[in-house]
Amino acid sequence: MKIVIASGKGGTGKTLVATSLALVAQQIGRAALLDADVEEPNAALFLQPIFHSERAVEQMVPLVDAARCTHCGRCAEVCQFNAIAVVPDKTLVFGDLCHGCGSCALHCPEGAIREVPKTIGRILSGQADGMSFAQGELQVGEAMATPIIRALKRYARDEGWEQADWLIQDAPPGTACSVIEALRGADIAVLVAEPTPFGLHDLQMAVQVARDVLSLPVGVVINKDGAGDQGVEAYCREAGLPILMRLPLRREIASSYAAGIPLVQAHPEFKVAFAGLLRSIHRLAQGGAA
Ligand code: SF4
Ligand code: SF4
Repeated sequence: MKIVIASGKGGTGKTLVATSLALVAQQIGRAALLDADVEEPNAALFLQPIFHSERAVEQMVPLVDAARCTHCGRCAEVCQFNAIAVVPDKTLVFGDLCHGCGSCALHCPEGAIREVPKTIGRILSGQADGMSFAQGELQVGEAMATPIIRALKRYARDEGWEQADWLIQDAPPGTACSVIEALRGADIAVLVAEPTPFGLHDLQMAVQVARDVLSLPVGVVINKDGAGDQGVEAYCREAGLPILMRLPLRREIASSYAAGIPLVQAHPEFKVAFAGLLRSIHRLAQGGAA
C-alpha cells in the first residue's frame, strides 16, 4: 500500500508522523520509506539510515548551436515555461526554468537545438532499522523538485519496494507541482494539520489537491492537539474527512523531535496509537470507514 504523508505547509509534523508510522509498520510487516521532501529531506536525521547507493538525477536541457540558429524565435514561442529568450543576435536558455519537455528541439526549423543531460540532484538509498529507505535531494541552486521526486518513485518501483506491505512517502510541504507528483499514484493521502486558523487554511488547500484534484482517499492527523481552536475539527466534520489520529501538544514530544529521536522510540507508548493509525489508513484506503 502506497501512503503519502503530506501537509499544506512545512513544520506541521509531517516527518514526525512519517518516520514513526514507518517504524511501526516495519514491526508489523515489510515497510519502506521515501523522503520526497527533496529540498529539505530530514527523515534521515531521525532514522539514521546506512546509505549504500547513490545515483545522479539528470534532466535533459537544450543546447543551442549558435552557428545554425537564425534567431527565428520559434523555440521561445513554444516554450510554456519562458525558459528560452531570443534576442536579435542571441538565443538564451534559462536552465533553472527548463522543464526538459523537449518541445523547443522538436520545433526548431534549423535543427539547431540538441538536448544534453544536466545533473540536478541525487537519490541516496540504504537501510534503516531493517527498513528500506531512500531520499531525493535537489542540488543547491536548482529549482525543479518534480523530476527528483519522479526519479525517487521510479527507483522505489525498480527496486520492488512497491511490493512492500507499506510504502510510505514523506511528501514536500505545500500544494505545488512537486506535491502533486508525490501524491500521484498513491493509495491514500494522510494530511497532517495543526488546529489553528493557518493550519485550517493550509489543510483546505491540501484537501483540494489530494481529494478534489487527484481523487485520493484522504485522512487527517491533527498534530499539537489541544493548542489553537476547533476550526480544523469542524472543517473535517463538514467535509467528511476522518480524523485518524491526534497527537497532543506536549513538551516532551517537541523535545525528542528536536533531539532527532523518532517519537515511537523516545516514547514507546505511542506505538499503539501508530499501529491504530496504520489500521485506519488501511481501512480508509480499501474504501471503508476509518
Ligand atoms: S527555433 Fe531554432 S533557429 Fe529558431 S531561434 Fe530557436 S534555436 Fe534558433
Ligand atoms: S525543453 Fe521545454 S521547458 Fe526546456 S526550454 Fe525547451 S521548450 Fe522550454
